[in-house]
Amino acid sequence: MLFNSMLIFNNKYNKKNDKRTNKNIKMKTIFTPQKYNIEDIPNKPFIDADEIREILSNSKQPSKEQIDSIIEKSLSKKRLSLQETAILLNANDKESIEKIKDTAKKLKREVYGNRIVIFAPLYVGNKCINDCSYCGFSCKNKEAIRKTLTENELVKETEALLDCGHKRTILVYGEHPDYSAQFIADNVRKVYGVKKGNGEIRRININAAPFDVEGFKTIKESGIGTFQVFQESYDQESYDVYHRSGLKKDFNFRLTAMDRAMEAGIDDVGLGALFGLGDWKFEVLGLIRHTNHLEACFGVGPHTISFPRIKEASNVTNLPLQEVSDDDFLRMIAILRLAVPYTGLILTAREPENIRKEIMTYGVSQIDGGTNIEIGGYSKDTEEATGQFKINDDRSLSDVIDELIENDYLPSFCTACYRKGRTGEHFMEFSVPGFIKRYCTPNAIYTLAEYLEDYGSESTKLKGYELIEHNIKKLAEEKQQQIRDGVEAIKLGERDILV
Ligand code: SAM
Ligand code: SF4
Repeated sequence: MLFNSMLIFNNKYNKKNDKRTNKNIKMKTIFTPQKYNIEDIPNKPFIDADEIREILSNSKQPSKEQIDSIIEKSLSKKRLSLQETAILLNANDKESIEKIKDTAKKLKREVYGNRIVIFAPLYVGNKCINDCSYCGFSCKNKEAIRKTLTENELVKETEALLDCGHKRTILVYGEHPDYSAQFIADNVRKVYGVKKGNGEIRRININAAPFDVEGFKTIKESGIGTFQVFQESYDQESYDVYHRSGLKKDFNFRLTAMDRAMEAGIDDVGLGALFGLGDWKFEVLGLIRHTNHLEACFGVGPHTISFPRIKEASNVTNLPLQEVSDDDFLRMIAILRLAVPYTGLILTAREPENIRKEIMTYGVSQIDGGTNIEIGGYSKDTEEATGQFKINDDRSLSDVIDELIENDYLPSFCTACYRKGRTGEHFMEFSVPGFIKRYCTPNAIYTLAEYLEDYGSESTKLKGYELIEHNIKKLAEEKQQQIRDGVEAIKLGERDILV
């Protein structure tokens, strides 16, 4: 038995550059990790599945006292350790789950305010050499119609996004020799170059296969925001079941992808796990362990975490899934909010409207809107191609914005931090009290005003400007007039005001 008992402990692992998960943990009772000693070294695998399983099994049936003390700690916005997170994951009684959800709502309001950042994915190509058995793009899907956007089609797709009012996109690719680092970098430059009316894309993120350091450098130079690579499963046993051939079969190459991205200078990286492949509690600890690793090696954690739940896909049947129920999914996101208070949480249109609505209260900071994941799906100007999976929220961007405004969220198209160099470590430094009121709220207000002027219907404008005034009133008095002046300037035609 490695852990003699688990009572309340005090984890100091929030310090930057701590070398491993269990170091610096001062226990009030006995906690003696003996076997696990994976060092956090850049480019070296860092997941010890036995350690994660042990932590989970040793935190079964936690006491209310343990749970309350961890909830209390999370309110001080300190990142939680693996052990603390495991205790929350094993808090199964109704009262504790409600407490965790209420705390997530509170933390979300304190750290992010009522802003929700809006983006849309742009699928560029569905060719793929891998055989991920859950994905419609798998090379084994012989029925799939393959397609890669031509430059011209990419421009049309971008224009279609601009016509809706988008300012942020994520380019998505299968894994294929055609989608080289240079190809992706060229796509990024092309998309940034598209202007239509007052519309332009101001931040491009990428979700593509992992590259080597040189490849990541090439893409970084094109001016991307975040590079996302989802580990899919942090448990190699589950991972191996679903990734049987192709480059993605190599668990460790994927696990260390974000190390290479950071080495290449991409300091905004996005992590994710595909929920449904393995045990969801294991995956949450995998995400936290990955966060620890990046902080230990590079002094900065992930910019975002995504938690896609597996959805129906073309030609995908009979998978040995461990599906996550709605209740567990909602609870899991609340726990993530407590565990990593300063990491952005991304929710996508894989989830239906009702689940999206509830999850947003627990701490999601970014959602997509008006999503279409078909290749050429926005402009409807290309021949048909197979989609990756089925989305469950296909409302238009204007419907999503209307709903956000009606529910007192402040939709934001802000791209200021990345364009002002507030990324990576610098972004973390800014993630402190006062930051939101100083930067995020004004930028959200300005970008919403741009949206209302250029794309909003009369009724959206009416509601939108009421919401803007309501939010201006929540700012420091001496700031309010300056923001009102900025909004007036936008009404008169000025664009891209950012603080
Ligand atoms: N091909 C690259 C890769 O695999 O890393 C790019 C990403 S893929 C186009 C985007 C993500 O979609 C995957 O990382 C996976 O987590 C998710 N995905 C794949 N199939 C899915 C499905 N059936 N339901 C929900 N999400 C899925
Ligand atoms: Fe290809 Fe990515 Fe789909 Fe796997 S998840 S089959 S790598 S597109």
